[in-house]
Amino acid sequence: MSTVRKELVSMGRELVDAGLSPGRSGNLSIRTGNTIIMTPTNVSLGSLSVNALSIVSLDGTHLDGPRPSKEVPLHLAMYRRDPAAQSVVHVHSENATAASCVEPWSAHHAILPATPYLLMKVGQVPLIPYFAPGDPAQADAILRFDLTFSAALLANHGSIAAFPTLAQAQTAVTEIEEAARTALLIRGQNFRLLTGEQIVELTERNGTPWTPGVPSQADVATFVRGAARGPLGVADWDQASTGR
Ligand SMILES: [Zn+2]
Repeated sequence: MSTVRKELVSMGRELVDAGLSPGRSGNLSIRTGNTIIMTPTNVSLGSLSVNALSIVSLDGTHLDGPRPSKEVPLHLAMYRRDPAAQSVVHVHSENATAASCVEPWSAHHAILPATPYLLMKVGQVPLIPYFAPGDPAQADAILRFDLTFSAALLANHGSIAAFPTLAQAQTAVTEIEEAARTALLIRGQNFRLLTGEQIVELTERNGTPWTPGVPSQADVATFVRGAARGPLGVADWDQASTGR
């Protein structure tokens, strides 16, 4: 248990040092059997203490330590979705949060597939509808989302990733941040995306989740203009599907 505690504390520091977790935002957890060990509420991830971490049962009961982050239900939902997930990282990093405020071009992936690493390390990153932080309905929305994914953008809020190791979850939020930054930078430019074949090759080779579909010209055109509109349905973005 003490190794797990040390791992959480040092990861908190790394995320803050990398500029991914501003202020007192963000939270981390590791699953240990039937409990999770989690960062407390209202604490900077850069000043965690191994002796001040929260222990919570898988049904959300606070068992020991300081009061946990109010985003416990979010973490528990990610663990419930994927039994292989043993670590969850949630951050309000700048570009991921900005991207979470933009309507997604696709129902299965909110970030334009312009560069390989997000697809290689994470796969598709859907946008989960907005709920106030700590609202248990957010967890319900995650559990109801009928799509395989290891990480998501929470609308108007930030990113979340659930992986077998804390290092993988850290990598995921880092790649999301970088890919979101790229997507926002190229918005309004005459950009080139990866092709459907390239996306399929990358995700198949790395075993990351990807539902067939690449942006249609109409989707990209709308995204470039930045027109406000509702999320697309599957039929819209599937026009250019590779049919995998
Ligand atoms: Zn949050």
